[in-house]
Amino acid sequence: MKAREFRSDTMTRPTAAMRRAMAEAEVGDDVCGEDPTVNRLEATAAGITGKEAALFVPSGVFGNQCAIGVHCQPGNEAIVSEKAHVVEHEAGSAGALSGVQIRTVMPGNGHYLTAADILPRIRVGDDIHEPKTALILLENALSDGTVMPLEAMREVEALARARGVPVHLDGARLFNAALALGVEPADLAAACDTVSFCLSKGLGAPAGSLLCGPRAFIDRARRRRKVMGGGMRQVGVLAAPGLIALTEGRARLAQDHVRARLLAEGLSAVPGVRVDLRDVVTNMVYIRLDLPGRTEPGCVAFLEAHGIRVYPPLPDGIRFVTSLEVDDDDVAAAIEAVRAFALG
Ligand SMILES: *Cc1c(COP(=O)(O)O)cnc(C)c1O
Repeated sequence: MKAREFRSDTMTRPTAAMRRAMAEAEVGDDVCGEDPTVNRLEATAAGITGKEAALFVPSGVFGNQCAIGVHCQPGNEAIVSEKAHVVEHEAGSAGALSGVQIRTVMPGNGHYLTAADILPRIRVGDDIHEPKTALILLENALSDGTVMPLEAMREVEALARARGVPVHLDGARLFNAALALGVEPADLAAACDTVSFCLSKGLGAPAGSLLCGPRAFIDRARRRRKVMGGGMRQVGVLAAPGLIALTEGRARLAQDHVRARLLAEGLSAVPGVRVDLRDVVTNMVYIRLDLPGRTEPGCVAFLEAHGIRVYPPLPDGIRFVTSLEVDDDDVAAAIEAVRAFALG
C-alpha cells in the first residue's frame, strides 16, 4: 500500500530536476565566499525579499537562532508569541546559544501577535532590574497554518520603529503566507528588519534556509554562522536545488493550497469532524473529533493502518499538511479514511 504523506511538508523529496542540478552544481569553498552557486542563491534570495543581502544557513532553526544571536546581547529579551516555533520547537536554543530571555506573549486573537499585544511588553528606560527589549519576533505563515495580515505586520513595524526595536520575521513558510495574502514576499519582508525562510518545506529542496537583511547585519550573521558551526564548504550541491525551489517549487505552492482546501471541505462534510474552514488558507488542515467513544490518537492509528500518515494529535487537533508528496488521489483517500473511522 502506498503511504500517503500528510505529516509535514518537510517530508518532500527533491525532484528529478533538483537531483540533476545537485550533480552538476558548480561549487567552491563557501566559507571563503567562493561557491558560485551559493552566491547566486544568496543574491536571488536577497532580490526576492527586497533585502540588501542574504546568508545560506543549514536550517530554519539555524536562521532564527542566528538572527536572535545577532540582534540581541546575552541578558536581552525577545518578545515572541507563546505559540511560535521559536518557543515550541527550537529546543530552548535562544537561551542555550544566545543567553536571550524569551518573553512569551499569548496572542489576543489566538493566532498572531498584534501591536496591542506587544506594546505593554516593550521595556523602556534604564531600570537596572529589567532586561532590555532587543527584538520582536513575528511568524508568517504561522505554525497553525494561518497567516498574519500585512496591515497587522505594518502596525507592529510602526511600533517597533518608534521604540527602536528590530523585528525579525520567521518566514519558514514565507511564500505560503504571501500566496494566501495575495501579496509579494518582499511586501511581508519590508515590514521587518530581517527575515528567514526555508527551502526545505513546500518548496521541495532537501535542506537549507536563507536569512536576509541589511548588508551590515548579514556580515555579522556570517560570523555568527561560523561561531555556530554552520559554515559549510562545497555546499553549492545544496544551493543548486535551492535555486530550483525558488522557481519551480514556488510556482507549484498554489496547488498545495487548493488541495488543502479540498481536503478541508471534504473532511468538514464528515459527521463528527470539526474543521474551521476560515483557518484553512495555506497548506494545513486541523480537525477536531466530536465522536463519542472515539479519540484523536485512535483516529491517527486508524489512518496509519489505512496508509494515511499524520503526526500524533497536536494541541490544535489532528493536522494534515499538503505538499508535493500529496496528489488529488491522496486527498480523496484521506477523506474516505476519516469517513470510515467516523462511521465505523
Ligand atoms: C519548520 C519551521 C522552522 C524551522 O525549520 P527547520 O528547517 O525545521 O529547522 C521555523 N519556524 C517555523 C514557523 C517553521 O514552521
